[in-house]
Amino acid sequence: MIDLKSMTLLELQAMMQEMGEPAFRGKQIFTWLNRGVTSFDEMSNLSLTLRERLKTECLLMVPNAVRKQQAKDGTIKYLWQLSDGNCIESVLMRYHHGNTVCISSQVGCRMGCAFCASTIAGKVRDLTPGELLDQVIFTQKDSGAPVSNIVLMGIGEPMDNLDAVLKFLELVNHPDGLNIGMRHISLSTCGVIPGIRHLAELGLQLTLSVSLHAPDNETRSKLMPVNRAYDTNALFAACHDYFRKTGRRISFEYAMIDGVNDYDWQADLIARRLKGMPGHVNLIPLNDVEESPFRPSRRTAAFQKRLEHHGVTATVRRSLGGDIDAACGQLRRKAEKGEDSR
Ligand code: SAH
Repeated sequence: MIDLKSMTLLELQAMMQEMGEPAFRGKQIFTWLNRGVTSFDEMSNLSLTLRERLKTECLLMVPNAVRKQQAKDGTIKYLWQLSDGNCIESVLMRYHHGNTVCISSQVGCRMGCAFCASTIAGKVRDLTPGELLDQVIFTQKDSGAPVSNIVLMGIGEPMDNLDAVLKFLELVNHPDGLNIGMRHISLSTCGVIPGIRHLAELGLQLTLSVSLHAPDNETRSKLMPVNRAYDTNALFAACHDYFRKTGRRISFEYAMIDGVNDYDWQADLIARRLKGMPGHVNLIPLNDVEESPFRPSRRTAAFQKRLEHHGVTATVRRSLGGDIDAACGQLRRKAEKGEDSR
């Protein structure tokens, strides 16, 4: 069966021609898919014969919202069930500058970060480009909130599923699709260097976020196993190269952990390693994960001051959806453990 939603407009046009149909049918189908139709019968400008043929040869996958939580601040968290029964999360956040959806890139994650709920049970599988796109389409359709920004910061490591992610970017960016500009998209990585280098070559206008969480190898290797393969020296070198190639400022994510990564010397080290590059550090209050031994830092303001004293811009991330488990993989985790969090 053909996975229609993972296909580009050009691929759909070519497929229509192979089926003996005019190429413009490809565009009609692309438009319907991006509107979030749930059956081929909704594609009313296609002939009945073509619709019947599509039903037998193609998949029209539709994620099912098995849980939905809405916070007082308007944040909505979705737990989507995919066609094979696996579940992933997306979160809609409302900001003054527009609605942002945070999407997952994999079912689970194999990166093993010590503070993160998404990785506890490992990775089950990669998402397809269509499943990435569906999170945006159906969050928008269900909530009625037009989505203007996308962050790839949900469950999974985008660089570990880069081919699908790149195809998704092409789909979501297309003028005949959702038409979301690259400048409105952020991609977050735990520091998979080949992926960072690949993106630098492509020169896309998206924002790269690097989950740093510690500037020194000793601390970072304890928190993030990926640091044993790609250490901080190699990571900062790749970031400097990325900036030189693309001219785009990188955003560094930094979850503040009590007594682990919140010392002044670590702020000083971040500043030294960013020299020559206009980085931006995003300080995140650590979300408490039941299974983790880490606690939120009480030094966030002091750490921010220290960074700014060195001329490094640092912001403290405003936390949305705190009352609904909107933190990193927690809803899926609860569903897996059989706890009802509705
Ligand atoms: N794998 C990618 C994207 C998904 S994680 C990455 O690592 O960047 C999105 C962000 O949430 C990352 O910066 C991650 O480190 C952070 N995160 C994970 N668990 C967290 C927690 N308990 N508290 C605060 N931030 C967390």
